[in-house]
Amino acid sequence: MNNKKKESILFLYPTYVCSSNCNFCFIDPKLRKRSNDLSLDEIKNNILYLEKIYIINQLALVGGDPLLYKDFIPLMDYLGDNYFWNLKIKSFVLCTEGLNCSSKKLVNYLSKFFISDLNSCIHISLNNFYPEDRFFKKRKQAILNLAKNKFNVRFVIIFTKNNINKIESISKFINDLFLRYYSNSTFHNFIVELRLPFNLKGDENELFVSHPDYFFKTFNNICNLFFKKNIPFTLRNIPLCYLKKDSVKILDKISKTYKKVDVNKKIVRIDKQHQLKYAEISTYSDEKWKLQKECLLCNLKDMCNGITKTYIKKFKYPKLNPFISND
Ligand code: SF4
Repeated sequence: MNNKKKESILFLYPTYVCSSNCNFCFIDPKLRKRSNDLSLDEIKNNILYLEKIYIINQLALVGGDPLLYKDFIPLMDYLGDNYFWNLKIKSFVLCTEGLNCSSKKLVNYLSKFFISDLNSCIHISLNNFYPEDRFFKKRKQAILNLAKNKFNVRFVIIFTKNNINKIESISKFINDLFLRYYSNSTFHNFIVELRLPFNLKGDENELFVSHPDYFFKTFNNICNLFFKKNIPFTLRNIPLCYLKKDSVKILDKISKTYKKVDVNKKIVRIDKQHQLKYAEISTYSDEKWKLQKECLLCNLKDMCNGITKTYIKKFKYPKLNPFISND
């Protein structure tokens, strides 16, 4: 590892266990077991080691679902006492599918980390929110508990063949939630992030093989709903030129609603397999998203995250269609 201290975000995977078990998850299903949980001491030792090498002022708890980590409360107490309240770590993200936030007790406990000077946000995966399954009521209750308590939230929805027919129901739920609890809020308080699946293991993207037309109709309808209601949203690995031209034409007028994702992050990843000097270091922007040759002429290149050519080829995504004046 380089001795010079660089600013990095620490991605901590305390557990890979998750109730959702999405089939496109980039975590190998074989790893999603308790024996791959980090111990509290391992976590502490890793942070102590890494802060000698990096400036770590941002932390993300990811997984798996960190809320299912057996020592989640002791971990948060430790982070609070040693890194949050002294503002050594200034920004904190908790990525979860949220189920456990149906417990008001847990939400009350968490509120001190999310309704404070700490720049924090809870990222909630809605991939399995619809179709309604046995967890539906619990998930809904969890989201309502967070909304009622004004947590900063980012709702992440990945379009898959399992949820695509219900994606308008998800949007309606989000729309109602926004109008009821978050109207006039900023990107920092409430944002929806639409994504395509990535890290797919097979050669075919089943979403596009089975639903290309339906996806684009739905996708444009949803984006238009967000534009019209001023619901803050962002597109992760979906280029802006996948939107209909009519929507794209008004993008410059609706910067209140749409924001580019900041993907220029240097990340240090710690999990059971990558610890101390074996921590995995990566830069997001180099890996999955970048503007292409076609984008040079595009009017939207400053607002768009682009996509990789490999992606387009491998998953049969449509070609880029740069937005040029008078288009
Ligand atoms: S052409 Fe490039 S910059 Fe323009 S919208 Fe498409 S991906 Fe984004």
